[in-house]
Amino acid sequence: MADQQALESFRSAFRAWLDELGVAKRSTEDPGIDANFSVAVFDDLTPDQEAEVVRAGRAWEARKYDNGWGAVDWPAEFGGCDLPHSYAAAVGAVEDEYILPRRNELFAVTQHMIAPTIREWGTPEQVQRFVRPLLRTDLMACQLFSEPDAGSDLAAVRTRAVREGDEWVLSGQKIWSSMATSAQWGEAICRSDPDAGKHAGITAFLVPMYAPGVIIRPIRQMTGGSSFNEVFLDQVRIPDALRLGPEGSGWAVALTTLAAERSDSRSLGAGTVAKVVALARRRGVTDAALVDGVVDLWVHDRVQELNNERTVAELQSGRTPGPQGSIGKLAATINMRRTSDVVSALLGEALAADTGDPATFAWCEQVLGAPGYRIAGGSDEIQRNIIAERVLGLPRG
Ligand SMILES: Cc1cc2nc3c(=O)[nH]c(=O)nc-3n(C[C@H](O)[C@H](O)[C@H](O)COP(=O)(O)OP(=O)(O)OC[C@H]3O[C@@H](n4cnc5c(N)ncnc54)[C@H](O)[C@@H]3O)c2cc1C
Repeated sequence: MADQQALESFRSAFRAWLDELGVAKRSTEDPGIDANFSVAVFDDLTPDQEAEVVRAGRAWEARKYDNGWGAVDWPAEFGGCDLPHSYAAAVGAVEDEYILPRRNELFAVTQHMIAPTIREWGTPEQVQRFVRPLLRTDLMACQLFSEPDAGSDLAAVRTRAVREGDEWVLSGQKIWSSMATSAQWGEAICRSDPDAGKHAGITAFLVPMYAPGVIIRPIRQMTGGSSFNEVFLDQVRIPDALRLGPEGSGWAVALTTLAAERSDSRSLGAGTVAKVVALARRRGVTDAALVDGVVDLWVHDRVQELNNERTVAELQSGRTPGPQGSIGKLAATINMRRTSDVVSALLGEALAADTGDPATFAWCEQVLGAPGYRIAGGSDEIQRNIIAERVLGLPRG
């Protein structure tokens, strides 16, 4: 109870700070309509617009960080307040009540995936150089893991890392690297010893995206935008000081990042269901099947939230949630699909034709973007395999 009260006062204090800054609030009557209504899963932007989104997002993150609202669940040495994770989640939930710069996927990769990986695996110099700037988003970092023949089977990476004295030379191709054009750094996993076992011959590196030999080619997505990319590493020379973790430990380093990614995925689509409910209200829906769809979605969303709370409680009590991360990610992507189905039924042709009605055609971006997260960060099938083997004890397929 005392914990809940403390959390509530924290929320109120954060709201008070936002109000003091004069940040506009979303309509509580109808969270579906405001100046920057978006349910896009991936942005459909020109490179200039994307650069502006990232710039505005970074400015906001820096302001939050400098005022003690940024890395609240990190220790003080990293600019945080050492609070439980529920406080960081509360910051995100309160931010949803206001009209603030949009955080695209690069922010989560930088702050929630790569910063903790460097904290865990970095040398003291690397921790000093990178962690605070990543949390404050002075530096942005992307994930250079997947390759054309290494996705679900990530340990099959073939990008070579060859040691030459105090340097490494990296050569190969990465793919699906989200927001690589806006990142200054990339965390890459490379094959450093082709003769060692599949998982043992991998080493992780921090790659400056501006280094000679790094070539980035955006990939056009069905959402219209090009937020992910092919990244070619053509004889990229980096000092050994940018090796992340011991030589041959790249698989373990990658697992740290992937576990953070899975854990972060559990809140995908958070806040969207309230917008679906608002849409149904606004359209005066009475058809029983449509109403059932909205209610089912709301119930499943609530279950997802409760499951997430359980995961957060486990994290707070120092336990590693383990396969619960897979349950959280799977629940999130299933609900994203459910959301797409419900809004498609609610909107009919208004989903595909911009009639000028506010907050209708915009849902097209949710429907086209949601399938991406059934693949990203370990596909739904892979999450099911993990649950089958590690939760249900079924034999390996
Ligand atoms: C939106 C998005 C953003 C991404 N961002 C990044 C990024 O920033 N950095 C990065 O490195 N990567 C990124 N990825 C890549 C992502 O991690 C891979 O796409 C994913 O791991 C799947 O790999 P794949 O595409 O090679 O598909 P494959 O592994 O070839 O899988 C193809 C199909 O086979 C199924 N399958 C494969 N193996 C099994 C199995 N053992 N059992 C059952 N089914 C199986 C899969 O579920 C899938 O349906 C992103 C992907 C997407 C969609």
